[in-house]
Amino acid sequence: MMTIMNCLKPSGLRNISKALYTLNRNIASLSALPETHQMLHKSCRDFAEGELKPIAAKIDQEHLYPAKQIKQMGELGLLSIVVPEELGGTGLDYLAYAIAMEEISRGCASAGVIMSVNNSLYLGPIDKFGTKEQKEKYIKPFTDGTKVGCFALSEPGNGSDAGAASTIAQKENDSYLVNGTKSWISNGYEAEAIVLFATTDKSKKHKGISAFVLDKPIEGLSLGKKESKLGIRGSSTCSLIFENVQISSNNVLGEPGMGFKIAMMTLDAGRIGIAGQALGIAQASLDCAMEYAATRQAFGSPIIKLQAIQQKIADMALRIESSRLLTWRAAVLKDTGKPFTKEAAMAKLSASETATYCAHQCIQILGGMGYVTDMPAERYYRDARITEIYEGTSEIQRLVIAGNLIKEYEL
Ligand SMILES: Cc1cc2nc3c(=O)[nH]c(=O)nc-3n(C[C@H](O)[C@H](O)[C@H](O)COP(=O)(O)OP(=O)(O)OC[C@H]3O[C@@H](n4cnc5c(N)ncnc54)[C@H](O)[C@@H]3O)c2cc1C
Repeated sequence: MMTIMNCLKPSGLRNISKALYTLNRNIASLSALPETHQMLHKSCRDFAEGELKPIAAKIDQEHLYPAKQIKQMGELGLLSIVVPEELGGTGLDYLAYAIAMEEISRGCASAGVIMSVNNSLYLGPIDKFGTKEQKEKYIKPFTDGTKVGCFALSEPGNGSDAGAASTIAQKENDSYLVNGTKSWISNGYEAEAIVLFATTDKSKKHKGISAFVLDKPIEGLSLGKKESKLGIRGSSTCSLIFENVQISSNNVLGEPGMGFKIAMMTLDAGRIGIAGQALGIAQASLDCAMEYAATRQAFGSPIIKLQAIQQKIADMALRIESSRLLTWRAAVLKDTGKPFTKEAAMAKLSASETATYCAHQCIQILGGMGYVTDMPAERYYRDARITEIYEGTSEIQRLVIAGNLIKEYEL
């Protein structure tokens, strides 16, 4: 299969101006991007239209993990977008990642979350903090869809308050003995490796948390039930239960005690991806509403001629475009080595609330047809909701934004 990088080679650049014109009409700000990113956008859109959109309803209704499509996405280079090429990755940037996440999630939000967990939550911290050996073992086989990874931070007793981790990694000579439960782990069923956070020194609170990367399965680790979720049902979510799981000191990521910092840095970057996922759901909602409104007749004309409907689609488009610009700004700040924590929180907050808003309006525009599974609007509504919860709830994003503002104002 052709990789994304192949598509971006000069030979793939021919004969695309007409296609780009059509795309740019849909996303006005796209024409301001480098051609590489426009082409990536087109490749992802083609893949999502051809391979994801047709299966999205089935995997939602039957709670199926889209294994074949995830493998294809790996072969296209979509599961390791920012990982350097020498480690098997695609070697693009976070702007590319945000664009790809939007287009994939526009086709299927479940595929979007599987992609985001592997890219930013799993590969991201190993790429940044891993040793040469860890990168060799835990990055390369996870770049092309052969294997996926997961990220285990949340626990039954603490989600937003991640610094209060109670899973313990007790040092014993050259190894650690891990005991505790991690909850809500996306890709938990399929993952073949875990980025894990556990406390190695409770007295130091969040500064006593360490990060590890380890194989799955491993002796002493069992999986909780697959959660039955409102949305993103094609992605598995489960608890990971550690009972005397022995791991080597070589599995520590970064230095002992750096875990909380690694988790927060990882989530900052991950939020750009979730903003992309939310944008994809929002854009799909607008697309669906536009198509329906153009054909549905009421009082003798298509409902798109009604000003009440036009008010809704204008607000949807406005929120999508502004959230997209926030998302791309956060990505470009990260790509250029500038601080981006506040901007990533703003992007995630705005895009996730936009997704919920647009899916809500899409249902309203479709009327009764919005409420049944014959149309995708109700799935968009269910899928949108999670983007306001994981990788930091909307309340936490507001705290991050306000905290940064207080620092900027030196108050
Ligand atoms: C489908 C799904 C997939 C997930 N995937 C993963 C994963 O792969 N890895 C992982 O580690 N975790 C994952 N999570 C966990 C997710 O990140 C947490 O659910 C989220 O961070 C919220 O934590 P909580 O559920 O414990 O809610 P709580 O922290 O208990 O929060 C409950 C409510 O209180 C509010 N709140 C809490 N603290 C404050 C505060 N200081 N100020 C204002 N309001 C506050 C919250 O915003 C929320 O509204 C996933 C969750 C779900 C549902």
